[in-house]
Amino acid sequence: MSIKQKVSEVNQVFDQLGAEIAAFQSTSQLSCVAGCGKCCQKPDINASVLEFLPLAYALYQEGRADEVYDEMTQLGADDFCHFFRPVNKEANQGYCGSYQQRGLICRLFGFSARKDKNGLPTMITCKVIKEGQAEKYQETDRAIKSKELAIPNSAEFYMQLYSIDFALAQEQMPINEAIKRALEIVLTYYSYGGEEAV
Ligand code: SF4
Repeated sequence: MSIKQKVSEVNQVFDQLGAEIAAFQSTSQLSCVAGCGKCCQKPDINASVLEFLPLAYALYQEGRADEVYDEMTQLGADDFCHFFRPVNKEANQGYCGSYQQRGLICRLFGFSARKDKNGLPTMITCKVIKEGQAEKYQETDRAIKSKELAIPNSAEFYMQLYSIDFALAQEQMPINEAIKRALEIVLTYYSYGGEEAV
């Protein structure tokens, strides 16, 4: 499968997830706090290469892939995601500099669930939402466990990525490493004339 086709398939998964999250948020009324960037201010976010192939492809099309790759080679293990743009670190404020091409983990966090040890869905979310919107969070937790409210299942979305490219989807690594490898794949592919170098 060509890079272009893989990117298109990953984007279809993201579109489906976006629709499910929108429906979930509309019913639960849970949302991120405007301007909050706390979940990106962590050096230990893990991701797969495939979920960042759309970002790498977009950078290649913009003619920025080499430049961003070079910048990322300077990053250390304790650095936050290269695309995080801090506004006020003390107040945990900031934003994603590549929101439209963010990865699956970035999309799932806050508004998806995994199964707990009893097989019941448990929200993958943050303290800011749990404590700041406590009443809505408690009601949502009850509603998803009683199956009154549908919530995106994180494992199902990872499975969809596995079916596009298992090798690039299954290995989890630090987010900056995943983005760098995605850039390497795209740059190598097009340097050999892939899809006649779009
Ligand atoms: S890609 Fe964007 S949303 Fe994801 S961790 Fe980086 S800055 Fe945050």
